[in-house]
Amino acid sequence: MTSIRSGLYELGDPEEVHAQLERGEDSGEYFYYRLNDEAGIQIEMDEWKPRKVGINTTEKMKENFRIWLQRDGVEDKFRNCAKQLVELRRVRMTTPRWEQFALGQYFVCRVRNCPNDEDKQWSSRAKFETHLRNEHVAEDYVDLFEAQERCRQVWKYPPVPSETSP
Ligand SMILES: [Zn+2]
Repeated sequence: MTSIRSGLYELGDPEEVHAQLERGEDSGEYFYYRLNDEAGIQIEMDEWKPRKVGINTTEKMKENFRIWLQRDGVEDKFRNCAKQLVELRRVRMTTPRWEQFALGQYFVCRVRNCPNDEDKQWSSRAKFETHLRNEHVAEDYVDLFEAQERCRQVWKYPPVPSETSP
């Protein structure tokens, strides 16, 4: 039991990774925020009380988090981190790959007279537009935007079970 516990502590020790990430931030590779209560919450890594529902453990965690959040500078750290993440997302949204990344978007050609028998899928709007322009004739679709919207696929959450799944 003792060796399992000490193994857990070694696995759970984030200091080495923290030091690595700080070096990256210092060299300007990225921004790094460590949202960590240095004093720590007095909870064992494998604690879950009572055993089935863990309500005592989760309440203890919530209460300790609330106390930590009220300390000087902690809430500001969260706000600054959130602002930076929003700014990053806004910059990413202006790139052509955003829809693909954020929505899991891809295109499956359903336009009439498609010359492709099997490979009818494109990962980006730009590549699908190239397919429409180069491999179809203008009479195959109403306009490019309509064809793209009709052929556009996005992730659905929660996933709709397919008829083939068990
Ligand atoms: Zn096509």
